Amino acid sequence: MRQFSVKTQARSQMIDVTAQVRSILRESRVENGICVVFVPHTTAAVTINENADPDVPRDILAQLDKTIPLRGDYLHSEGNSAAHIKASLFGASETVLVEGGSLVLGTWQSIFFCEFDGPRTRQVCVKIIPA
Ligand code: ZN
Repeated sequence: MRQFSVKTQARSQMIDVTAQVRSILRESRVENGICVVFVPHTTAAVTINENADPDVPRDILAQLDKTIPLRGDYLHSEGNSAAHIKASLFGASETVLVEGGSLVLGTWQSIFFCEFDGPRTRQVCVKIIPA
């Protein structure tokens, strides 16, 4: 398993980490298999979505804030229940196929690290499994 860190700058943020994942894949020299991207955090997530228009991640985060407001009828004493809920909705991992040494992603797809309780320094774990 390989890891890299991501420094987030805001409470909520989506950061394109595709280049870091591609670099780990290249170094692995695996031609075919699967690539698992996992975040070991309870208030962060990973998702795949559009990389071309920065308004897409902006709209995703804005709508998430409306649907899951920061302050609500939450019991969790740490005060970051909204971030926990968002993290569970998105999930802690994504699996991407590897074919011919490349990630199988659509033209407009990128892998995004999703921060929901930043700013913080976070870890992203990547495992390339040959198949
Ligand atoms: Zn918490």
